[in-house]
Amino acid sequence: MSIAFRQVEHTYNPGTPFAYAALKGIDLEIEEGKVTAVIGETGSGKSTLVQHLNALLLPTNGEIEVCGKLIKSKEKPKNLKELRRNVGLVFQFPEYQLFEETVYKDIAFGPGNMGLDKEEIDRRVRESARMVGLAEELLEKSPFDLSGGQKRRVAIAGVMAMEPKVLILDEPTAGLDPRGRDEILAQIRAYHETKRATVILVSHSMEEIARNVGRIVVMRDAHVYMDGTPRQVFARAEELEQAGLDVPQVTILADELRKRGLDIPAGVLKKEELVEILCRLN
Ligand code: ADP
Ligand code: MG
Repeated sequence: MSIAFRQVEHTYNPGTPFAYAALKGIDLEIEEGKVTAVIGETGSGKSTLVQHLNALLLPTNGEIEVCGKLIKSKEKPKNLKELRRNVGLVFQFPEYQLFEETVYKDIAFGPGNMGLDKEEIDRRVRESARMVGLAEELLEKSPFDLSGGQKRRVAIAGVMAMEPKVLILDEPTAGLDPRGRDEILAQIRAYHETKRATVILVSHSMEEIARNVGRIVVMRDAHVYMDGTPRQVFARAEELEQAGLDVPQVTILADELRKRGLDIPAGVLKKEELVEILCRLN
C-alpha cells in the first residue's frame, strides 16, 4: 500500500483577497517502507504538502490516500485518531511546542493519548529517548532546562513513541550544527530500520539528503518539479540551482570536470565516488 496524492490543490484563505495557491495539481506516489526526501526552497510548498498526510490540512481539491484512508476536501476523514496514530508528524522547530513539566511526561503525552497502559507507555518513553540519544537522567528534568538540540530530540522522541507507521519530519535538522545534524539523521534512519517505517524527510539541505535517502521529490512554486533517485535528481544540477537549491559541492565539481572533457557521469553524489572515477580515468 503506497501513499498517493491525486490532483491535489491547496489554497490558503480561499475566496478572500488573500487567497494563495500553495499546492497545484500534485500527483505523487510515495512508496511505503522507504525513506523519501521532500526538498525545495522556502515557500515552495513542502510544509503544506506534508501536513495533508495526517489531515492537519485538507485539500481544496483532489484526494490523498494514506494507510488505507482517503483524505478529501471539506470532510475530516473518519477515524481521525487512528490516522494520526499511524502518521506521525514532527513540525518544523518542534521544540517550541514542548509544554509538560518533565521530559518524561512530554514524550509520554502522545502514547498516553492512545490509551496504552502504564508499562507500555514507560517502555516506549525509554526506548524512544534512547533512540534519539537522550540520557536517562534527563527524563526527570524540565524540558525548558535543556539545550536547543536536546529539546528538538525530546520533540522527535514524543512522536516516535507513538510508533507511527509513517514518520514525517519537517526540517528536523534546521539550525543544528553538523554533528547534531548527522546524529539526528542517523537516529531517524535507526527508527526507519527497526520499525520498518515509511519516513518522509523535509529538507532544504541537499548535502544531507544525498547521503540519506532513496528517493527525492523536489518542490518548486507549488508543484512537484522533479521526482527520482538522488542520482537522477542530481544529474540535473543546473535546474536544481535555478529552483533555489544548493547542489552538493562534489556534484558541481564533477559537472565542471565533465564540461572540460573528462569522462565523468552526471549526478555524482559522494567525494569517494568522484575520487574512484578519477583514479580509473588514468
Ligand atoms: P515551505 O515549507 O516549502 O517553506 P510552505 O508550505 O510553508 O512552504 O508555504 C508555501 C506557501 O504558502 C508560502 O508562500 C507561504 O507563505 C504560504 N502559506 C503557508 N502557510 C500559510 C497560511 N497559513 N496562510 C496563508 N499562506 C500560507
Ligand atoms: Mg516549511
